[in-house]
Amino acid sequence: MSGNRGVVYLGPGKVEVQNIPDPKFEAPDGRRIDHGVILKVLTTNICGSDQHMVRGRTTAQAGLVLGHEITGEVIEKGADVEMLQVGDLVSVPFNVACGRCRTCRSQDTGVCLTVNPSRAGGAFGYVDMGGWIGGQAKYVLVPYADFNLLKLPDRDRTMAKIRDITMLSDILPTGFHGAVKAGVGVGSTVYVAGAGPVGLAAAASARILGAAVVMVGDFNPERLAHAKKVGFEPVDLTKSDRLGDLIAQIIDTDEVDAAIDAVGFEARGHSGGEQPASVLNQMMEITRAAGSVGIPGLYVTDDPGAVDPAAKRGSLSMRFGLGWAKAQSFHTGQTPVLRYNRQLLMAILHDRLPIADIVNAKIISLEDAPQGYDSFDKGAAQKFVLDPFGQIAA
Ligand code: ZN
Ligand code: ZN
Repeated sequence: MSGNRGVVYLGPGKVEVQNIPDPKFEAPDGRRIDHGVILKVLTTNICGSDQHMVRGRTTAQAGLVLGHEITGEVIEKGADVEMLQVGDLVSVPFNVACGRCRTCRSQDTGVCLTVNPSRAGGAFGYVDMGGWIGGQAKYVLVPYADFNLLKLPDRDRTMAKIRDITMLSDILPTGFHGAVKAGVGVGSTVYVAGAGPVGLAAAASARILGAAVVMVGDFNPERLAHAKKVGFEPVDLTKSDRLGDLIAQIIDTDEVDAAIDAVGFEARGHSGGEQPASVLNQMMEITRAAGSVGIPGLYVTDDPGAVDPAAKRGSLSMRFGLGWAKAQSFHTGQTPVLRYNRQLLMAILHDRLPIADIVNAKIISLEDAPQGYDSFDKGAAQKFVLDPFGQIAA
């Protein structure tokens, strides 16, 4: 290991690939880590949640090394690592989790209680998530390796599906959690808000869970065209501000069994202005009585770029009374990746879930990451996967 490079956040709208320190067996607070491994990164994806930081919509500080969607090869291991060997290929859940606390022991690894001194839940390369160094880089440390890492098959089998497998670190389990928590089952009618990568992953998850019809709504024509191409019912939100009417054109009723919000707090209203509660309110309107809403879209406690003072503190104008009157259930929070990634890996390996094609994966070099951020921010119907050592390109 030598010559680490990584994607560094420099301020709103600005990221750069820079020389960064090689990872050490050390926690953000300086404690020695014997339960960790150092990975040579095989793939690492750009995520919509990275965009919230890069747009200046969080309290992220300049200098943060980004990246929480990591797949890699173990090249060094700490003395306490028992289950993994140097040379193993692994998928890294974006959640940093200790495996020892109350929530980890119930598989609620998105809200581990020990890896972040300021709140429940840790992640790599993310503001307020414990200071763990990000993995849009050549090398990265993963703590609590035995607990966190999913060991992948041998190199030939893994490389044959690497474009799909790279989605196991976040967006596929995130979308799947949204669909599971929305109660999707055989014959369900499903609406997914947002045709970005997480929305498409949620739609693919709904399909594999048995949904009868999966509708995906967006304002972006390129993303809608792609959603249609991969087999979902596109809902063009520019056509009406009454989502129920658009849904009724497809399923003859203006309510669905299950709704999934894959947009989050940067939601826009029909008028084009930002309305952070607009998707949540729509989900309550279009979900049937006693139905469920899965919310994998990200909401924050502090938003310096919010449209009003309440939203700056994460307080949104939700029409909560409507959801209450309809006895709906709402499921929030980051997905506990390791609850789902093993099953989803099997679905990928046996050709049940072509997630890379569904999200339109595009492989680019680490050095081209800034262009990837820029294209994704402009609404490209693609999911950018960084290939730091050119192993996929080869
Ligand atoms: Zn992500
Ligand atoms: Zn824990």
